[in-house]
Amino acid sequence: MEYNVSKIEKKWQKYWQENNSFEPEKDFTKKKKYILSMFPYPSGKIHMGHVRNYSIGDAIARFSRKKGYNVLHPIGWDSFGMPAENAAIKNRTHPKKWTYENIDYMRNELNSLGLSFSKKREFATSDPLYTKFDQKIFIDMFEKGLVYQKSASLNWCETCQTVLANEQVEDGKCWRCDSDVTHKDMAGYYLKITQYAQELLDDLKRLEKGWPSQVLTMQENWIGRSEGLEFDFNLSDESKKKLDGNFDKFKVFTTRPDTIYGVSYSALAPEHTIIKYLVQHKLLSDEKIQKIKEMQALSSRDKAVAQKEGLSLEIDVIHPLTKKKVPLWVANFVLIEYGGGAVMAVPAHDERDFEFAKKYDLPIIQSIANKKQKFDGTFATTEYGDMINSGEFSGLSSSEGKIAVIKYFEDNNLGKKVINFKLRDWGISRQRYWGAPIPMIHCQNCGLVPEKKENLPVSLPDDIEITGEGNPLQTHPTWKYTKCPKCGQDALRETDTMDTFFQSSWYFLRYTTDSSLWEEMAFDKKSSDYWMSVDQYVGGIEHAILHLLYSRFFTKVLRDIGMQSSDEPFSNLLTQGMVLKDGSKMSKSKGNTVDPDDIIKRYGADTARLFILFAAPPQKELDWNDNAVEGAFKFIKRFTSKVEMATPCEELPKIEHKKLLKESKYARKKVYEALKKSNEIFKGTYTFNTLIAACMEALNALNQQNDVAVWSEGYFILSNILEPIIPHVCWEISDRLFGLKNFTNIPLIQEVFKEDSIAIAITINGKKRLQTEVDIGLEKEDIINKAKEQAQKWLEDKIIIKEIYVPGKLVNFVVK
Ligand SMILES: [Zn+2]
Ligand SMILES: [Zn+2]
Repeated sequence: MEYNVSKIEKKWQKYWQENNSFEPEKDFTKKKKYILSMFPYPSGKIHMGHVRNYSIGDAIARFSRKKGYNVLHPIGWDSFGMPAENAAIKNRTHPKKWTYENIDYMRNELNSLGLSFSKKREFATSDPLYTKFDQKIFIDMFEKGLVYQKSASLNWCETCQTVLANEQVEDGKCWRCDSDVTHKDMAGYYLKITQYAQELLDDLKRLEKGWPSQVLTMQENWIGRSEGLEFDFNLSDESKKKLDGNFDKFKVFTTRPDTIYGVSYSALAPEHTIIKYLVQHKLLSDEKIQKIKEMQALSSRDKAVAQKEGLSLEIDVIHPLTKKKVPLWVANFVLIEYGGGAVMAVPAHDERDFEFAKKYDLPIIQSIANKKQKFDGTFATTEYGDMINSGEFSGLSSSEGKIAVIKYFEDNNLGKKVINFKLRDWGISRQRYWGAPIPMIHCQNCGLVPEKKENLPVSLPDDIEITGEGNPLQTHPTWKYTKCPKCGQDALRETDTMDTFFQSSWYFLRYTTDSSLWEEMAFDKKSSDYWMSVDQYVGGIEHAILHLLYSRFFTKVLRDIGMQSSDEPFSNLLTQGMVLKDGSKMSKSKGNTVDPDDIIKRYGADTARLFILFAAPPQKELDWNDNAVEGAFKFIKRFTSKVEMATPCEELPKIEHKKLLKESKYARKKVYEALKKSNEIFKGTYTFNTLIAACMEALNALNQQNDVAVWSEGYFILSNILEPIIPHVCWEISDRLFGLKNFTNIPLIQEVFKEDSIAIAITINGKKRLQTEVDIGLEKEDIINKAKEQAQKWLEDKIIIKEIYVPGKLVNFVVK
């Protein structure tokens, strides 16, 4: 068969399009597989990371179809967001125009890869019909008490002119543009993800089998549950006086109550209300007040990297157990967001506290003894051990001590056990145009009122100009003026739009529903109950906490609202490795990108797919290699070059294995080994490289023989198992030889794996003389006769007294 790449690929892409070959079936009694690769942001062009992501997902979807599953394999566009506005500023286009033109372009690019997506369930999250239900879900959450408004000091990106969630700040920099993040006091809307913190943590256990452990650990740390003791530090009488009687105590939290006798000072965050009072009323020297103001100006990132700094507040608190005075300090390492912004400091057993105590010459008191890690005053010993210098608790181990100290505090009303989470509520307000408007209205009489659901969507105005300064919804001459849905008076629309992660937190549910229902509902419960959860999700590790945590949160919320039934969105997660070139990540700024369009034009989509799945296991990094691309192309050419050796048939040819020549038997064994490998890797390792290697070996083995039936069987099976990887050429071969009838579940047979001869030892009077190969299934008599012939040399002139055959092992002749 001539391998005319572009003719074959265009032909089948057209065929799939015209025949709706990959639409899911409506029969909900069939067993299903929901295979999903993370949807792309329409940035303009696809890159090699996309090719990898979608080739993996597509292979799994195509394999599942052949195994008889009803398969949902959709694609859409995560199409709101900042780059559209940046492009608008740069190119003087409209964000909407830019976005939808990109979608059209990239849809064609994905088409040219031959991906088996459902065409009828494609949507973009910026489609007004999607916004309608996005906003409805927002209002549902508001009505459930899961949305609230508050003013806070927020992460602010000056370049993007927007607020960022903590999850979007990476090492103090904006996740999108890499600028330094600063802080700004702003009002915004929050989703109560913290209400689900415990369930989000507990359910990670249910994902242990299907998710990479690295992702589970990252989520666990991000949720950051800790158990400990919360108690009050009472101020000394003189200190209360100093604060004009406005404060008498403050709360602290510790995860190490076993070290409480080692407390030698306490420290407050610079933003703590007591500090604010001291500064406001000038109760400290001008010099100290100046320093505190400097500390307050630091962002949390700067605090994290800054030298530990602080100063004495000239205030004392009372140790709750020893009743001794403990000095109170302000310290830049204490975070206002965590544990109330106050800590008890135990320098003997905490590195940070130790460093600070050394710097400011504060007392250091040992209260834990550990034989392996002896305390000598030169460093903090942080391991568990036994409590010492700890009054009635001395002698208890750290773990016993934790429980005993908490119990003592609870029994004496001094404090209580509390569970703390690092996870914060999710701030979703963005001061940008190209997003889903938050569907709320501010009324002077009624306060904050959601838009009526029948008025949704609240659409973006088209007549705006994006200048990069301020929020176009805020400055639009008419858009924000409206009537209150409750009392009908003049009112103002909210001009914030939603974080785009809101849209990507439920898009996988939208796909489960036939698009004919999309006008009426976000998604259909019966359909989502059938399709959810996603059986295999494929995407980059960079989404380990952002998107994957938010989607889990939404799934639980939508379950509690009654919209769907699953607890978790993604049963199995594959995080694919990066595509590198010359050892570093492909990026435009480094100038080391390879354009997928060029590769497809030159070699075809099948070669691009084969290379990318062959070069490395999907979870590992993949280094681009031009020679290997060439090699992939040559293999496909070789694969097509022998098609004429086979004869057309509609089912597997009947082959009498025993009658075949050795080479043909070996070829069959190799073909079935590849089939076996295919079944194995699709159970979840997805090591396509090993499967492709097995297919190459099988093709080589077929080439060493010329039995037509074995060739036909070989093509029947190989074009089946390679179809998920190089679909165009496999459909072409299958169409020519098998009328597309071989894309089905092919059962394994065992006879090809059996060895067909065994070695038998021949012994004379118990002494081994030689060894011979006999066919399996040969009768005892025949074996003995064969042995006699072979051993003739030793049997000449001898009388055989006895012939003994030990099946499968040896023949012994007793002679005289
Ligand atoms: Zn930015
Ligand atoms: Zn009103």
